[in-house]
Amino acid sequence: MNTQDYIQLEERYGAHNYHPLDVVISRAEGVWVYDVEGRRYLDCLSAYSAVNQGHVHPKILAALIEQASKVTLTSRAFRNDQLPLFYKELSELTGYEMSLPMNSGAEAVETALKLARKWAYRVKGVPRYQAEIIVAAGNFHGRTISAISLSTEPLYRNDFGPFTPGFVTVPYGDADAVARAITPNTAAVLLEPIQGEGGVIVPPQGYLRKVAEICRREHVLFMADEIQTGLGRTGKLFAAQHEDVRPDVTIVGKALSGGFYPISAVLADRPLLGLFTPGEHGSTFGGNPLAAAVGRAALRVLVEENLIQRAAELGGYFLERLSEIPSRHVKEVRGRGLLIGVELKPEAGGARRFCEALQERGILAKETHQHVIRLAPPLVIEKEIIDWALPKIQEVLQMP
Ligand SMILES: *Cc1c(COP(=O)(O)O)cnc(C)c1O
Repeated sequence: MNTQDYIQLEERYGAHNYHPLDVVISRAEGVWVYDVEGRRYLDCLSAYSAVNQGHVHPKILAALIEQASKVTLTSRAFRNDQLPLFYKELSELTGYEMSLPMNSGAEAVETALKLARKWAYRVKGVPRYQAEIIVAAGNFHGRTISAISLSTEPLYRNDFGPFTPGFVTVPYGDADAVARAITPNTAAVLLEPIQGEGGVIVPPQGYLRKVAEICRREHVLFMADEIQTGLGRTGKLFAAQHEDVRPDVTIVGKALSGGFYPISAVLADRPLLGLFTPGEHGSTFGGNPLAAAVGRAALRVLVEENLIQRAAELGGYFLERLSEIPSRHVKEVRGRGLLIGVELKPEAGGARRFCEALQERGILAKETHQHVIRLAPPLVIEKEIIDWALPKIQEVLQMP
């Protein structure tokens, strides 16, 4: 079968809820992916930052195979010998006292929303079912009914109401707007430190710190969705650390498994996560021994291979070189670490054709929000590979 055969099968038998580039990948290693025709591409999406550690990292692979041959799923009805170690290592790395493991990012977001509501009723004293959670316009927190209820993107919401109530939207990047939106019933503020899906939107310097201060003053939880920005992507373990902010709750997913397995978690200290009691929340697969073993290996790789430092250094280099490319299409190049967005002017005709031109030159990137090309290669990338990619990106940005 060739590329067209696979595409036809997929279009015929699968729901069309994505518009992928027409490349059919059958193999990957490190920063490279290979299609069924044997062509090689530099992966500049990293599965939306799930493969920060690089594709098929040998150490994570070994942990997966070893654990898969022992025991994969016990359910949380019984204990397993991997989850306690995963908890401990996640806590030691992140500095949060506890965590609650789930599978997809959206589920971890749901868990955090439930936690905030419970805290509001049990600790803050908000009247029952009156809790409000403040979110930012342009956010992306996943695709469940509650996650799209927080969204301001018509494409994500249209036709899917009625929506979960209890959310208040403020503009992103405006701390005063957060302060104004707080009421006695506010449980939490939920934000992405950088809006990834929203178009790699970096908020003004000081925004996160101000919001954190407002939350502390007003007795409101500050919750950071670091599913895309966390675990080294922006050159710090968490993007909030660029402003020395430690949110009350941090949500992680994606790179928590290095791309091998859906693993997510809500991180917080004991006074918060200790509020959950048996039976109140759960997931059949959440915290299973295979996930825990893979998660442990994925975290070890981040640290042992200095991937966070790499993201800071190589991201800075990549951003600088990209900014120097003369192009009449580019409105702005921005980002942090290896999470970079190239925003095109509206006249450029959308980012899609640029991504297709990159594909022809052996680079896979995906447009986000119509006009932004996101460049976010695995953190194991080397300077020489960035230097290989830059002239090709330049060629594409200088197309007519
Ligand atoms: C990807 C993402 C999610 C959702 O994660 P899924 O695993 O797709 O459910 C939530 N928040 C942010 C910031 C994300 O980037």
